Amino acid sequence: MKYIDEFQNPELARRLFDEIRATVTRPWALMEVCGGQTHTIIRHGIDQLLPDEVELIHGPGCPVCVTPLEVIDKALEIAARPDVIFCSFGDMLRVPGSDRDLFQVRGEGGDVRVVYSPLDALKIARQNPDREVVFFGVGFETTAPPNAMTVYQARKLGIRNFSLLVSHVRVPPAIEAIMTSPSCRVQAFLAAGHVCSVMGMGEYPELAERFKVPIVVTGFEPLDILEGIRRAVGQLERGEHTVDNAYPRAVRPEGNPAAQAMLADVFEVTDRSWRGIGTIPASGWRLSERYRDYDAEHRFAVDGITTCEPAACRSGEVLQGLIKPNECPSFGTTCTPRTPLGATMVSSEGACAAYYLYRRLGVTPTPLEASPVV
Ligand code: SF4
Repeated sequence: MKYIDEFQNPELARRLFDEIRATVTRPWALMEVCGGQTHTIIRHGIDQLLPDEVELIHGPGCPVCVTPLEVIDKALEIAARPDVIFCSFGDMLRVPGSDRDLFQVRGEGGDVRVVYSPLDALKIARQNPDREVVFFGVGFETTAPPNAMTVYQARKLGIRNFSLLVSHVRVPPAIEAIMTSPSCRVQAFLAAGHVCSVMGMGEYPELAERFKVPIVVTGFEPLDILEGIRRAVGQLERGEHTVDNAYPRAVRPEGNPAAQAMLADVFEVTDRSWRGIGTIPASGWRLSERYRDYDAEHRFAVDGITTCEPAACRSGEVLQGLIKPNECPSFGTTCTPRTPLGATMVSSEGACAAYYLYRRLGVTPTPLEASPVV
C-alpha cells in the first residue's frame, strides 16, 4: 500500500539496523515519547533486533493512559445524568474509573455515545436542543486543535447545550519532568512527529540545550523509528544534543500556525495531573475565560471529586519508563485487557496493552486471555 509499504521495506530496515550497529560503541537509553511509536516498536520487534547497547524506554505519550482518575470519575458522574448525552472516542469507554467504566454507565442506562469527531458531538447537540451534550476532550497537542475548533464553532453558532470535559496535556513539560526526575535514565528522545506537525519544533531547542539531550522528531512506521534511532545514536556517539527532524514529510519547523492560533484563542495553559505520575506544572490546557461557559466541569459542578489509584497498578512507573510493563507483578495475571487495573492495559496506545498484544508476556496467559481484545 502506497505510503505504508515504502516505510516498512525490509531491505531498507536491514540497512538501518546495520548502520546503527556500526555506529554504537557503548550503552545508550532512548525514550520514544508516543504510545503509537511504542506499539510499532513492539509489534515489529525493533527493540529486540537492535544491538544490546541501545535500550528503548517507553514514554508517557499515551493520551488515554495519562488522563487522571479523577477526570475519568467526573466523566462517569456526568455521563450517568439522565439529562446528558455523553460523547467520546471509543478508546475511553473501557478505561477504569474508581469503581466502573463508561461501558458500565451505558449498561446502567446512561446515554453514552461513541463519535469519530468532536464535530459529531456538536451535531448531536443541535439535534437534541433539550439535552446537554458533553464531549470528552482528552489528548495531546494532536487532538486539542479539533476540540478547540468545536468549542469555537459552538460559541459562534450560539449552541448553548454543548460543553467539553477537558483533559488536554502538552509534551514539552512532560519531557522536562522526566529529565528532572532523580531516577531519569533517558539520554535521548524520539519526539512525537504528529505533535510536532501541529506545534512545530520551536519548543524543543531550549530543552535539548538545558538537559544536553538529543531530540529527534520521529514518525510512526518502522523505517521512521529506525531512522530516528539512527540519528539519535549518531548524536550521542558524537557528543551532540540538537533538535533534528527525521519526519520532514509531515513536520515543518513552524508547525501548523492556524491550529496554534485556534489553541491560543480557546485554551490557556494550566497545571495538569497525569495519571500515575502526578501534577506537572504548565503541562495542560483548560478552556480560557472567554469559553469558560463551555467547560463541563463548571457546568456540572464536579470539581470536588477525589480519588485513590489502585495500589497494585504500577502504570506511573511504566509511563515514566522506570519499569517495563511485564515487570509489573499484576501484568498478565490479575491485570489483562479483559480485567484491566490501569489505563495502560486498555488503551490502543498503552505500553501494557502492547506487551500483552504482542506476547511480551513473562507469564503464560490462560486460554480465555489468549486472544487479545485491544
Ligand atoms: S500491567 Fe496492569 S497493573 Fe501493571 S502497570 Fe500495567 S495497567 Fe497497571
